[in-house]
Amino acid sequence: MGVENLPPQITVNGRTYHWMDRPLVVVCVDGCQFEYITAAVAAGAAPFLGRLLAGAGTCFMADCVMPSFTNPNNLSIVTGVPPSVHGICGNYFFDPERGEEVMMNDPRYLRVGTILAAFSEAGAKVAVITAKDKLRKLLGHRLKGICFSSEKADQVTLAENGIENVLDRVGMPVPSVYSAALSEFVFVAGVKLMERERPDVMYLSTTDYIQHKAAPGTPVANDFYAMIDRNIARLDELGATIVLTADHGMNAKHAGDGQPNVIYLQDTIDAWLGKSKARVILPITDPYVVHHGALGSFALVYLSAADGQAVVAKRIAALPGIQMVLTRAEAAARFELPSDRIGDLVVVSQQDTVIGTSRERHDLSGLDAPLRSHGGTSEQKVPLIINRGVSKQPEGRRWRNFDAFDLGLNLATRAS
Ligand SMILES: [Zn+2]
Repeated sequence: MGVENLPPQITVNGRTYHWMDRPLVVVCVDGCQFEYITAAVAAGAAPFLGRLLAGAGTCFMADCVMPSFTNPNNLSIVTGVPPSVHGICGNYFFDPERGEEVMMNDPRYLRVGTILAAFSEAGAKVAVITAKDKLRKLLGHRLKGICFSSEKADQVTLAENGIENVLDRVGMPVPSVYSAALSEFVFVAGVKLMERERPDVMYLSTTDYIQHKAAPGTPVANDFYAMIDRNIARLDELGATIVLTADHGMNAKHAGDGQPNVIYLQDTIDAWLGKSKARVILPITDPYVVHHGALGSFALVYLSAADGQAVVAKRIAALPGIQMVLTRAEAAARFELPSDRIGDLVVVSQQDTVIGTSRERHDLSGLDAPLRSHGGTSEQKVPLIINRGVSKQPEGRRWRNFDAFDLGLNLATRAS
């Protein structure tokens, strides 16, 4: 298809995007608290990012969507809208239709199409690479193109993933789910694709294993950001516009002695009301919990009786370490959440505190470093960085991580 036949712009979920003038790579660095970047730059580990921060690119601080978890934010980035529109408001939720707690990995829960699918439908070459396979089906929903995970890179087929022989092409073995290599694989594969297939749009999504383990500026964290820096510098050399953002930040959630600050909310409410009167859901829950024990700063509470809700809310709000308790309607409005998929109460804990269900339901034996996690408003600030100049924006614009495609396609300086 010649350029003259391509549509000049497409509209997805109420936002209009220009056709790309150069390949666009949107990178979601899972758990990228901004300090990881500044510390790596200060240590000399990330020279390319350093140049972008120093003015060769443009850098904003953006808000991620709440809860500050992986699935809601990855889906916001690729749809350009908040969870109230796309429907994915956790990694895990209580499905009222089925009456059971389920993973939110299935595209049946996705209420809109993605920017990626729309561009592929319109004739763009699109590629998606994700670290964990749990995101693949959501990110790749209705996508005609390449879509695979590094976790299952040995199982890709042309029919299912739009590509084959990924291991040979990348030159790495399938990495462990709990490793930095799982994310490195994403970047190396992305560079290989840009060298050979040269996709028009590419979405790369990593895992936050390192950020859960290592604080900004530590050697482990700096090594990880050096790896990212090398690979995005190469994508820049290859002529791509790169937008780097994050699904959420990451903070220490432990006391001075290294023990996690946990409020076991199910146990607490059971002690107040008796068993089976409340159900606490932790949307951070996913099959890979060794590094965080399914503990984050956000919880949903479903109550069996509507009366007494205000009293319970008040008691939870009074617990040390709780930042806020919102009703369903308040949370839906304030955090742009789908009201039919959240609890009667929405609970957010303070920066240094996490919320659990019952003590015996959390296996903390895998935590070999003091707990770092996310989920609250304290992890809402994320970087939004582009390797281009940007047209003048209104003073005080609230940037969101789901402005990534708007930034890359509409606001970046065009190739002349
Ligand atoms: Zn994440």
